[in-house]
Amino acid sequence: MLIRTHNCGELRDAHVGQTVILGGWVNSYRDHGNLVFIDLRDRYGLTQLVFDKEDGNAALMEQASKLRNEDVIALEGVVRVRKGGPNPKLVTGNVEVVIGRLEVLNKTDNPPFLPDDLSKLSNEELRLTHRYIDLRRPRMQSILATRHKLYQVTRRYFDESGFLEIETPVLYKSTPEGAREFLVPSRNAPGEFYALPQSPQLFKQILMVAGCDRYMQICRCFRDEDPRADRQAEFTQIDLEMSFVRREQVMGVMEGFVRRLWKEMAGYDVPPMQRMGYREAMERFGIDRPDTRYGLEIKDISGLAARTEVGFFKETLAKGADRPAFASTRGVVKAIAVPGGADKLTRKMTDGYTKFVGQFGAGGVAVAKYSAAGVFETGIAKFLEPIRSELVEALGLRPGDSVLFVADTYSICTKAMGELRQQVARDLNILPKPGAEGGPWNFLWVVDFPMFERDKETNRWVAMHHPFTAPIDEQIDAFVRADVSDEDTIAGIVSAGYDIVVNGQEIAGGSIRIHDQSVQSKVFQLLGLTPESAREKFSFLLEALRFGAPPHGGIAFGLDRLVMNFVGTDNIRDVIAFPKTQTGADLMTRAPSPVPDDQLRDVHISIRALPAKS
Ligand code: ASP
Repeated sequence: MLIRTHNCGELRDAHVGQTVILGGWVNSYRDHGNLVFIDLRDRYGLTQLVFDKEDGNAALMEQASKLRNEDVIALEGVVRVRKGGPNPKLVTGNVEVVIGRLEVLNKTDNPPFLPDDLSKLSNEELRLTHRYIDLRRPRMQSILATRHKLYQVTRRYFDESGFLEIETPVLYKSTPEGAREFLVPSRNAPGEFYALPQSPQLFKQILMVAGCDRYMQICRCFRDEDPRADRQAEFTQIDLEMSFVRREQVMGVMEGFVRRLWKEMAGYDVPPMQRMGYREAMERFGIDRPDTRYGLEIKDISGLAARTEVGFFKETLAKGADRPAFASTRGVVKAIAVPGGADKLTRKMTDGYTKFVGQFGAGGVAVAKYSAAGVFETGIAKFLEPIRSELVEALGLRPGDSVLFVADTYSICTKAMGELRQQVARDLNILPKPGAEGGPWNFLWVVDFPMFERDKETNRWVAMHHPFTAPIDEQIDAFVRADVSDEDTIAGIVSAGYDIVVNGQEIAGGSIRIHDQSVQSKVFQLLGLTPESAREKFSFLLEALRFGAPPHGGIAFGLDRLVMNFVGTDNIRDVIAFPKTQTGADLMTRAPSPVPDDQLRDVHISIRALPAKS
């Protein structure tokens, strides 16, 4: 077999006259009568090969004429200046290789699609089923290379910063951290199961108790959640933990990482990152991961709305009026001013908004235009007269703007407005595409989250980050003393958590952890775990906290999302070599799949009845 001397992205003018050996896939084949051209492809690029009939090598010509796309070949030939003139689209475009010897290493069956078959590339199922062909595409190769580079930059930065890379188990104990777990039956312990980790959270905390001081791992996490377009059941995190720190130290090191990453991956200088409190984010943007690249901010106008005769404003404001500000059941009226909206928002768009906010439980959207004449028009315009000048001032309205109002309880109104704001931005097409060339990126730390929120379905308290997150220092005592039935006090406890948000996307989340066993026990109690079940599930953690746990905190970055930013895609499957579909299927290997009975018997499992396949 001919063994290559160069790759397909390597040959330049300097190689002219040399005899070289290349190997690769036939990317295209063009027969021009007495000349046959082949573009040969490998991971490094494309090189043009030529057979010249005038050379009189009939056997070679015969061999060449049988080549088809995606055949794997090796050839020996001489590099010459490209006769047809340079091809500026290829880095090897100045030269071509005149073939003297050819070896067909593997004939290819008629492929289901070709790597540059644009018409079939929109068929993602086909691409995932034959991922080995899809990954041959230069775009996919470059994504894999970007991902590789990101690993290297990450490892280098954290190594320089004194972090140890330590692996934690994938066969783990079932511990509720939020999402549903994947279970693995044990053969040796009948009826018992491992769980795949949702994250190495507790192991990394234990590593701090073990004195490892600074830990990092690029690790796989598993969450058996309901299908969602931008999620994968198995995904990758850059997982970090540090000892003897408070929030500032963790945030400092991580901000340095973000700066290094964007510089090396995209040549972008990240400015000092703004910080925003959770409450401010919710008030101004209706979401805890605001996209701050554009305005369209939300304003609470409940005070003004109370002075109008708009029936549904009044009814809403009467709800929960005795509850504290920001209580989820308190009625509020919020507004978004849309600059130039009078013209830019079409009737079709605004008509659709009521249905749109309905998805989030809100009753509807009222619209008013602020006309060039300085008066409100359409919809509820006439009711706004008594508050006209104050509303204009509060919203900073200019003639030609329009205003969108939603009235509902605090939690519904805030959520609906946060979503509506993003929808308006999409409708007005004011979102620059993120990505290496796109930018600009907008970075934000979001801090001061509530520790707990009520689960919508069960109405139980749940930890907003996870149950191992500490309250902020100032509130630890208040938390320890708090009566768990005191709704308002519990709702007001602020956590020492922090998220990094880029262009409205959460790319990292972490916190200072609880390192005191009694505080941890109190959190478990609040979350409804009896002391026995807390001990049963977390005895190792509670014990470790008793035996010398230093103060510690950390964070995890979603690696797949980071890569998406650098390659400019919205599809998480693009940045994973072998992703699963939205329903968790691996189309190439056909996983998940049934297993033979004896394999089930080994792990002491019997399948009761299978639901009919839909
Ligand atoms: N383990 C957390 C998560 O997966 C991250 C952290 O708190 O460090 O979200």
